[in-house]
Amino acid sequence: MRFTFLGTGAAEAIPDPFCRCRVCEIARRERGPHIRARSTALVNDDILIDLGPDILSSANQAGCYLGGLKALLLTHRHSDHWLPGNLYWRKPGFTPTSTELMTVYAPSDALADISDELAEGANFTWKAVTAGDTWRVGSYKITAIPATHGGGRLEALLYVIEEDGRRCLYATDTAPMQEAAWEILRTFGPMDLIALDATTGDQPGGDGHHGFEAFLKTQTRLIDKGVLVEGQTRLYAHHFSHNGHMTYDELAEAYGRYDVGVAYDGLVVDL
Ligand SMILES: [Zn+2]
Ligand SMILES: [Zn+2]
Ligand SMILES: [Zn+2]
Repeated sequence: MRFTFLGTGAAEAIPDPFCRCRVCEIARRERGPHIRARSTALVNDDILIDLGPDILSSANQAGCYLGGLKALLLTHRHSDHWLPGNLYWRKPGFTPTSTELMTVYAPSDALADISDELAEGANFTWKAVTAGDTWRVGSYKITAIPATHGGGRLEALLYVIEEDGRRCLYATDTAPMQEAAWEILRTFGPMDLIALDATTGDQPGGDGHHGFEAFLKTQTRLIDKGVLVEGQTRLYAHHFSHNGHMTYDELAEAYGRYDVGVAYDGLVVDL
């Protein structure tokens, strides 16, 4: 299984082009892993997780072809994760070569953003999913887990994706998970990869995200539940805001002490 982090930034990206904070100024000057597009990930060339505003340029930057996607999994309807208009460019008037039929799996409130005009001719279908659901996409098995995000105003999901003996957990956007999520997670056993929300850096993550301290607590809980096993599971911090006050280098040093990788745009992990 090949897991590609296409974008690793929070809502306003890094740098936030309107911002002159230290993190943004360093990102502008040094570029490289400091530059973060809005978060999206790709599993092999088959499953895309989220479809945010930067997906076209992120895919091009990584050299990824998205016309073969079998599934699009949406975590939630916040606009940094779901810009439905990006599906419009699949229509034959824009994309003359054939695409695979793709199914969008998402909470029902996110699917409400799909209009008939958007769907017409864009070669995708859609299906509402909710926390606890499990389904198959070709050789993949997918499970939706409840996220702690959105303050009850929307449904937000995390996903476990399994294929050919490999298993990964995509866990952004979320604050530390609630019991309902752990009840499902503990049934899986060890993951091969976990991408966990680390949005707010040295700041508290509040009720929708993780800062550094909360991340370490969730890491401990993942170990206690047998979901993270040393030597097997690669844990990555993911989805970063400049408002966390930490540069890429500072994040890499702080998380590195706890055997946690720091995701960056274009990072490819072969499992
Ligand atoms: Zn987000
Ligand atoms: Zn900034
Ligand atoms: Zn969000």
